Amino acid sequence: MVWFSYHGGHSGEFCAHAKSTLEEVVDTAIARGFTHYGLSEHCPRYRPQDLYPGEEHLGIDGLAAAFDAYVKRAFDLRDARTGDIELLVGFETETLPPQGWLEAMTGLRDAYPFDYIVGSVHDICGRWLDYSPEDKDALAADLGGPEALQIAYFDAVTTMVETLRPDIVAHLDLVRKYEPAGFWFSARVMRTIDNTLEAIRASGGILDVNCAPFRNGFGPVYPLPQVLERARAMDIRVTLGDDSHGVQTVGVGLDQSLAAIVAAGYESVSYLTRADGWRQAPLETLVPRRT
Ligand SMILES: [Zn+2]
Ligand SMILES: [Zn+2]
Repeated sequence: MVWFSYHGGHSGEFCAHAKSTLEEVVDTAIARGFTHYGLSEHCPRYRPQDLYPGEEHLGIDGLAAAFDAYVKRAFDLRDARTGDIELLVGFETETLPPQGWLEAMTGLRDAYPFDYIVGSVHDICGRWLDYSPEDKDALAADLGGPEALQIAYFDAVTTMVETLRPDIVAHLDLVRKYEPAGFWFSARVMRTIDNTLEAIRASGGILDVNCAPFRNGFGPVYPLPQVLERARAMDIRVTLGDDSHGVQTVGVGLDQSLAAIVAAGYESVSYLTRADGWRQAPLETLVPRRT
């Protein structure tokens, strides 16, 4: 019996927009029945204009120091909680800075003995997609409209997957955050998404079925059923991600991720172990705990 999440474990100790200490997050994961829990703190940023709101007091050097402290603490906890939970230590990438992000992310991955990385795109040309509806609308207007933004985003994810080859591809359709209820991608955008899925399949990447939008009132889990069904048809594997940012969100909504996986026709979910790499958990071996 297994229960797991690999995108999340952000903590207020190392992330200005999260809450709780990393130890509290890990101990909450244990209390909520997780057998495997991935820690994927945000990578540092390398230009002042790429700081998240609330990080201004840290600056570039402060972010780098916080990330280094995160990695040390995560590995210490992985050892300290052996027997209670299997912790996997990784980080969540950015395509920042727009010039040189691949070298920055590859360098970071090589600098520590990470178990995995979560590949994310949160920006187009240094402008955030998911920070506010106003910023996203302005970005879409500058690119030629919502469809143009969606295509630019999925093309960026394709490039990220083909070059960085992350173990997990995060919140695949993040670009539909803030769209109204019932939103579906057009046939034209779906052709671009097919290219992205083909890149994920070719790289052996695993999709993060991420419950944060459901929990935060931004529609169904990522990705939408129309995308998840295409992924299933292409035999792309999936895993669970709670995108937790403190103890309040550890595991919350993952039952919705699991329901979406079942509805898309999957019969198993992938989970990462340190000893054996990726394994497949048949649906009946998953034990979601009430949170
Ligand atoms: Zn975050
Ligand atoms: Zn993210």
